[in-house]
Amino acid sequence: MNFENSLSFAKGLDKKDPLRKFKSEFHHPGKSGKRFLYLCGNSLGLQPKSVKKFLSEELDDWAKLGVEAHFHAKRPWLYYHKFSKKALAGIVGAKPSEVIAMNQLTVNLHLMMTSFYQPTKQRFKIITEAGAFSSDQYAFESQIKLHNLNPDDALIELKPQNGEYYLRTEDILTAIKKHSRELSLVIFGGVQYYSGQFFDIKKITAATHQAGAYAGFDLAHAAGNIIVDLHKNEVDFAVWCGYKYLNSGPGSVAGAFVHEHHSNNPDLLRLAGWWGHQEKERFKMKKGFIPMPGVDGWQVSNFPVLSGAAHMASLGLFEKAGMKSLRKKSILLTGFLEFLLSDIVLFHDYFTIITPENPDERGCQLSLLMKKNGKKIFDRITKAGVIADWREPDVIRVAPVPMYNSFEEVFRFAEIFKKALE
Ligand SMILES: *Cc1c(COP(=O)(O)O)cnc(C)c1O
Repeated sequence: MNFENSLSFAKGLDKKDPLRKFKSEFHHPGKSGKRFLYLCGNSLGLQPKSVKKFLSEELDDWAKLGVEAHFHAKRPWLYYHKFSKKALAGIVGAKPSEVIAMNQLTVNLHLMMTSFYQPTKQRFKIITEAGAFSSDQYAFESQIKLHNLNPDDALIELKPQNGEYYLRTEDILTAIKKHSRELSLVIFGGVQYYSGQFFDIKKITAATHQAGAYAGFDLAHAAGNIIVDLHKNEVDFAVWCGYKYLNSGPGSVAGAFVHEHHSNNPDLLRLAGWWGHQEKERFKMKKGFIPMPGVDGWQVSNFPVLSGAAHMASLGLFEKAGMKSLRKKSILLTGFLEFLLSDIVLFHDYFTIITPENPDERGCQLSLLMKKNGKKIFDRITKAGVIADWREPDVIRVAPVPMYNSFEEVFRFAEIFKKALE
């Protein structure tokens, strides 16, 4: 699309936006009656107004029914993990039997790595991106140490080429091939939290399988942001959180995917708990764990109903809006942001966009690498009412979210940013 740098053009895009009505489904934070310009859904998604209703229904059922709510609540608690399957399957491109809401993201990462990282003397290496989110780095290192191995030998972190800000797919594929004889696991972010790069899940997974290893993805910044096709691309496992693009509230229940290829694979050891045990036998409390087929067999504890209620409220909106329409708007919205930023005269003096230019290689987030006065400029835009986020040492991340951000907001952000540079 040929964008124009004007407020009326932005307003025109909003008028034509088929998803514009979703903005009013959310609470918009502000101060003294003035809304913040919230471009931080990559960190914490906004609260859907329907969350209160879903939550109070559970609170009411708890109050009125006590333990009986496990069977007689409006959404019986015993089966709560099943209610989100259809929506989650649509969001990550999976079969309902392959996805589950459970635990928290890093916990799920550990559970999955316990199964899919089973190093042998010959195959013990993990390939990942350099500068992965800290929690993932800690998880990888501690998993390696659990097997009495040294992270310095076992962990291969791929860096972009000199002078570049994100990885070339061909370099990732070459590294996988090069280490194929020693490779156990390849694990990447779906969308890299710092650069905003959307990795080529299909190609990385195919190359990993060719090398005889498993492929997993951390979709923290991908779920609800981009189109992923976990089932079709034969990804072995994936994990994500509920509170970023999935708008399910702070620390809300997270998710996991295990491909149906592994539904009943007895070689995949796991950390077991009663909720993963055969549903019909669960309450017999007998010795001998028999996992449920599919990802359900990776559940450990009973379901966190209160955070799950917020999750259900938000997933309802995703079902209504549809990932295809969200992504379509997202490409326009972020494209508009990129156009406006590139139109700033001081652009090259002050910052570089380190997120890939190709819309197929990024989600909604743009990462602005500040060449000078980065923190000062960030503080200025914050003071002007923008909520974005600052990542040490020098990056401002801006994420216009198609579910609730408008083209007008993107325009206003660019104006504030331009002023802050001056
Ligand atoms: C947000 C994020 C996390 C946070 O982990 P929690 O277990 O949800 O606290 C971990 N990894 C990545 C890649 C993230 O983006």
